[in-house]
Parts: sequence; structure tokens; C-alpha cells
Amino acid sequence: MKVRQVKTILQSRTTTDGAGVRLQRVFSNRETQLTDPFLLLDFFGSDNPNDYIAGFPWHPHRGIETITYMLEGKVNHEDSMGNGGTIESGDCQWMTAGSGIIHQEMPKGVDGAMRGFQLWANLPSRHKMMKPRYREIKEADIPEVTTKKGASVKIICGELEGTVGPVHEIVTQPEYLDVTLPPNTEFRHPTKRGHTVFVYIFEGKGHFSEDTERIIQSDHLVIFGDGDEIVVSSEDCQLRFLLISGKPIGEPIAWYGPIVMNTQEELEQAFREYRNGTFIKHQ
Ligand code: FE
Repeated sequence: MKVRQVKTILQSRTTTDGAGVRLQRVFSNRETQLTDPFLLLDFFGSDNPNDYIAGFPWHPHRGIETITYMLEGKVNHEDSMGNGGTIESGDCQWMTAGSGIIHQEMPKGVDGAMRGFQLWANLPSRHKMMKPRYREIKEADIPEVTTKKGASVKIICGELEGTVGPVHEIVTQPEYLDVTLPPNTEFRHPTKRGHTVFVYIFEGKGHFSEDTERIIQSDHLVIFGDGDEIVVSSEDCQLRFLLISGKPIGEPIAWYGPIVMNTQEELEQAFREYRNGTFIKHQ
């Protein structure tokens, strides 16, 4: 059993997207070599509605999956397929844009507060034009497992100690876990060889491999080198992080805004179709 070592540490950066939403961008198009099959991770967290209320009005997506996971507050959404609803605190929306959807995502705070994540996962070329698919996962349908050593883990996608999360049949075989460690607790988790594995710390601080003195703080992404398991331990305070892994795709990326294809030509075609009203392939 080879323990994965820390390969790269990135600090999230403040940016603005959508119609003026202030957010923490954890990684994006500069880091795709390190995060394949994932393209982008944003953490939005604010007690001030002015930071997020403008939201993400109507925009297209093609060639990717967007995964929204709310910790606090709500996001109202509507799309070109006639879906609409609210992602509430603790819920997840796993949207496979595939051949294309047009949607809007409008955050609403609860008592002003809103905290959540949006992850983008790439699709391999043979799946980029697949039929769009929505999965709305309610908090009550996300199993929470407590390990022998005391970690509590919400399983959105993947498996832990025989419990399987509600999201299945995703081509990049991802794992998406929300892990909370009480103070001075160790967490070990098996990982598939060759898969990309990273964690984003959003509460507390901890050690992210064996035999390391280095303490990594909140708002940092830790990308691991290859191996069979990861080892994380908390310090004298609670540690909470997302653990995300997936099978790298290894294909060329042509990316502009919310659309990610393999070639420049496919990208130009997508924007041309969006302009002339032929973007939606599946209703
Ligand atoms: Fe979107």
C-alpha cells in the first residue's frame, strides 16, 4: 500500500463571475493538467447578499458536468429542458450538460448566509454530446458514515466502508465526499491508482500525508501524487474538507467560458449554434 504524497498545494483566489458573484476560485483553466478530469472548483461563501444576489443568469453549458453542493443558503435554478427547482442547504445537483443546456442559477441566502461549491467535471469526447441529465440529490438521500476513528463522511458519490453514495454511472468514476474530522483524528481512504485525487480544506487545518510536519490551512487545495490511499489528520481543531477523485481523461481541451470541447472548431460551432438558436439538441 503506497500512501499518496502531497504533490501540489494551491490557495484559492477571490474573483467575480456570473452577473457579479464574488467567489473563491480554487482551480480553473490554468491547472487542468493537475486536476484532469476536473476543470474548475469554486467556493462561494458570504454572509452578505450583495456578494452573490446577482447570480448566474441564463447561460449555456456543453461538454461538461456541473456539480453544485450547498452547505448553507439556496440556489433557485431553471433550464431549457423545463426543469426548475431549489437546491437547498445540504443538497447536491449533479448536472450533465452533455450536448447542451441553457440554464440560470440564482443564489438566495438564508438569514443572509450562503455557502456552497460548484465543481466542473469534463466529459470525454465520446460523451460530450450525450443527452443532458439532471440529478437532484436531497440532503436526506446523502448517506453519512462515521468511521471507527471518528471521522464523519457524507457520501455524495463513491463508496466508504460499504456505503455507496446516490450518484452512479458517471463516466470519469468520480468520488465526492464531504469529510469532517474532530480534533486530533486520523482518516485513511483508499484511492484508485492513476486517478486524480485532491482535497479542498474549508474549515480548520491538518496534515495531508504520513510523516510530514507540514500543516495545511483552510482555503487550500491539496493535490496528491499517485498511490493506493490518502492519510489525513486533524490538529487541535475540527477539520472539514471535500475529497474529490476521478479518472483522468487525457484529451485536448478547447475551453471558453461555460463550454468545454476538444477542438477550437467544436467550440466555435457551439457558440455559433448558441447565437443562431440551434444549440439545444435534446429537449
Ligand atoms: Fe451554469
